[in-house]
Amino acid sequence: MRFRKPTTCPKCGRGSDIRFIVRGLPSEDGWKMIESNEAVAGGCLMFEKMPMWRCVVCGCDFSDESDPAVIEHRRLERRLFGDMSAPLLLPSDPVCTSSCRSK
Ligand SMILES: [Zn+2]
Repeated sequence: MRFRKPTTCPKCGRGSDIRFIVRGLPSEDGWKMIESNEAVAGGCLMFEKMPMWRCVVCGCDFSDESDPAVIEHRRLERRLFGDMSAPLLLPSDPVCTSSCRSK
């Protein structure tokens, strides 16, 4: 299921540069999206209710919780995380180490 791309950023109201946030090690498709500026690498940290989209204009991360694909994703997240409150780390990779270090 594809996530529906939001048309505007909830913070600054602009929609000119909204990119999908790829989590963990990007797949081949993920890399293509990053190279063509459709997506950004979001690092390796996994947690519940992760934002799906980044507004590059103001730098805020958000998600559209009314998107059916997001609602489905939240259901999978609950199954994955259960009652765990601690964030889950994916195996590290060069992309994720650099973005995690910058935090
Ligand atoms: Zn914005």
